[in-house]
Amino acid sequence: APEIRFEDVHFGYEPEREILRGLSFTIPAGQTVAVVGPSGAGKSTLARLLFRFYEVGQPGRAAADGTPAAGGRISLDGQDLRSFTQASLRRAIGIVPQDTVLFNDSIEYNIRYGRPDAGPEAARQAAQAAHIHDFITALPQGYQTRVGERGLKLSGGEKQRVAIARTLLKDPPILIFDEATSALDSANERAIQAELRSVARNKTTLVIAHRLSTVVDAHQILVLDQGRIVERGRHAELLAAG
Ligand code: ADP
Ligand code: ADP
Repeated sequence: APEIRFEDVHFGYEPEREILRGLSFTIPAGQTVAVVGPSGAGKSTLARLLFRFYEVGQPGRAAADGTPAAGGRISLDGQDLRSFTQASLRRAIGIVPQDTVLFNDSIEYNIRYGRPDAGPEAARQAAQAAHIHDFITALPQGYQTRVGERGLKLSGGEKQRVAIARTLLKDPPILIFDEATSALDSANERAIQAELRSVARNKTTLVIAHRLSTVVDAHQILVLDQGRIVERGRHAELLAAG
C-alpha cells in the first residue's frame, strides 16, 4: 500500500474563501490516520482531493474545472497525484462515503461494481461481512432485486452497508471511510466497525469521523477545525488533552 502525503494543501471552492488552509500530514504505508472535527471543518473536502475530485497544486490558478485557489501538493509514494489518471486512482482507492448513491440496478450489480470480475459468491461473502446477506436473500428476487427509483427503496443504513460490501469486495490498497457508519444503528455499527478495522489492516487508510470515540485504534488522529489541523496525536493523548 502506498504512503499518502499532503504538503501545505490549500483549497477553496470559491475565490477568497479557503476551506483547507495549509494542511500537512503523512499517512505511512499501511497505517490508519483519522481526521476528526466539527461539521464544516473540511474533512470531506480533504477526502475528495485525494481521489482528484478537485485539483490541487496550481497556486493562484484555476483548475481545469474552473475550481479556484488551490495550492500545495498531494502525493502517493512521493509521486504527485496529478500524474495519476482518474482511472488508476479509482482502482487504487476505495471510498465508503457518507451518503451513498446507488445505481438503478440490481443489488448484486451494485456490490460488484468495483470488481465486475469477482464472482457472485465473493459478492455474497462481502454482503455477509457487511451484515446484509440475510436481508438480501429474504427479498423475493434476492441479489437480483433492483434498487433505486425503479426498485427497492433502501434506508440510509442499508445503502451504506451496500457501499461497505462493495469496498470490501474491491479490496483496494487505499481506503477512505467518510463517516462510514454514521447511518447505522449502534448494534450494527459495532459489528461493522470491527469488520472495517480488519480490512483496514495493512492498507493505507483515511478515516473521517465526528467523534473521537469511534477511532480508538488509528495510528494517528488529526483534529481539523476551520481547515487547519489544530491538534494531532494518539487517542489517549488527545483525550488527556481534553
Ligand atoms: P466536513 O466534512 O468537515 O463537514 P466539508 O468538507 O463537507 O466539511 O465542508 C467544508 C466547507 O466547505 C463547508 O463550509 C461547506 O459548506 C463547504 N463546501 C463543501 N462542499 C462544497 C461545494 N461543493 N461547493 C462549495 N462549498 C462547499
Ligand atoms: P462518528 O460517529 O464519530 O461521526 P462515523 O461512525 O460516522 O464516526 O465514522 C467513523 C467510522 O470509521 C467508524 O464508525 C468506523 O466504522 C470507521 N473506523 C473508525 N476507526 C477505524 C479504524 N481504525 N480502521 C478502520 N475503520 C475505522
